[in-house]
Amino acid sequence: MSKPENWIGVDLGGTCVRVALSDEKGKFVGRMDEKVDKSNAHAVSKQIARITRFLCAKHKLRINAIKGIGIAAAGPLIQDEGVLIRPTNIPFDLVPLTEPVTEELEIPAYLINDCAGAALGESKFGAAKGLDNFVYVTISTGIGAGAIVNGTLLLGKDGNSHEVGHFVIDYAGKLICGCGKPGHWEGYCSGRNIPNFVRMRFREMPTGMVKESLLAKRMEGDLSKLAAADLFDAAKESDDLSLKLVNELGVLNAVGFANVINAYDPSLITVGGTVTLKNKDMVLAPIRKHVAEYSVNRVPRIKITPLGDDVGLYGAVATAIRYLS
Ligand SMILES: [Zn+2]
Repeated sequence: MSKPENWIGVDLGGTCVRVALSDEKGKFVGRMDEKVDKSNAHAVSKQIARITRFLCAKHKLRINAIKGIGIAAAGPLIQDEGVLIRPTNIPFDLVPLTEPVTEELEIPAYLINDCAGAALGESKFGAAKGLDNFVYVTISTGIGAGAIVNGTLLLGKDGNSHEVGHFVIDYAGKLICGCGKPGHWEGYCSGRNIPNFVRMRFREMPTGMVKESLLAKRMEGDLSKLAAADLFDAAKESDDLSLKLVNELGVLNAVGFANVINAYDPSLITVGGTVTLKNKDMVLAPIRKHVAEYSVNRVPRIKITPLGDDVGLYGAVATAIRYLS
């Protein structure tokens, strides 16, 4: 039997950086999570190198036993240069990742958009094994996707070819997305923007109806602190108004999913991200119910990712194996 290979996967999110030491089969030998060091533009690459050294020492591996490091990060990015460009979550114009990590550890590193990476992870280790046409969608702080079409992972000229969160789902554009443009899917249905949607709908409803809702009572009239979780929690307690709004969001998600299906024609869509994973049925049921009303293409299977919260980490490992073997 040959010795297992050692790979490092890095899931660089807005708040946390998660690092896994994995074999080639996606078995995590070790892992570590930390808050992202945002003290300067170079801090996060140093942090990735330090955690990699730590995991190697802990598991008695020489650093050169690592074959490669895959870094999956929210963009925008320039994939070939291994840098983030004005990333949403780290307050610097340019965040270099692969070059400083490789320089410090003398190990090759590869950068990928986190959702594209997650699609690779699902395809190698999860529910999409052997599928040539597959999309992963995340509904989290933001909304994004990674698509494999005819066996090829779509990347685009800079590696940003999957910004489905900025598909227009409301041309009237009542809500403005975090990117500044009106009517985007993410501007309504992402964890960050669901509170804006709820506040807008409350303004459109009769005051009495709003006041009677469990959700409004919970917020004690102060909707400024509303979070997406408050809406789903009230809906889980059968609050009529919250259930109505969850269903409205579900219809908007169905429009977004129909756009995804019309664009990529996948045979499977897996769904992840915090908003989805914490409210599986409430998110998925209305999508399944309404998506055919908007999709011209045959509706594929739509299911929760079996890789759960770790889909990004599996994606980073799969990226390293795919591009650095
Ligand atoms: Zn947008």
